Amino acid sequence: MSLDGNYDPDNIFAKILRGDMPCVKIYEDDEVLSFMDVFPQSDGHTLVIPKRPSRNLLDTNPEVLSGLIQKTQIIAQAIKSSLKPDGIIITQFNGAPAGQTVFHLHFHIIPRYENSKLSSHAHGQMAEMDHLSGLAAKIKAALK
Ligand code: 5GP
Repeated sequence: MSLDGNYDPDNIFAKILRGDMPCVKIYEDDEVLSFMDVFPQSDGHTLVIPKRPSRNLLDTNPEVLSGLIQKTQIIAQAIKSSLKPDGIIITQFNGAPAGQTVFHLHFHIIPRYENSKLSSHAHGQMAEMDHLSGLAAKIKAALK
């Protein structure tokens, strides 16, 4: 999948947005959905996606992008106060050669904990749903 091409309405995140696939939700409004990454690189690895379809940052409407990054900041602040990481990585990949594996725009929020190794991107182990739900409950409580 190069940088160019058509949006595939059957990508995993489109299915999650339609409710055809489950997710452990953190936040939702008319524009944005945020949920736990099911193959987390660290405890609390969270994804933030726009509801409006686009493949990557380059083909996204600037207003959608602006709202998305603002929500990403708010959710990262909630992760900071609830999970108390020592650092937070925010990443976003464009095109398969850059590491993108799901072709619906998303920001990763990846908490870093001192003395804890990061799992590799898109090759991690699937997390236990109960564990993700526990983390999501803490983050959601900090969003209120
Ligand atoms: P990308 O590689 O496109 O930047 O990131 C895609 C992310 O989606 C990866 O971190 C991967 O772990 C995550 N992911 C892939 N499939 C699913 C899924 O079915 N549910 C959730 N919640 N995350 C997924």
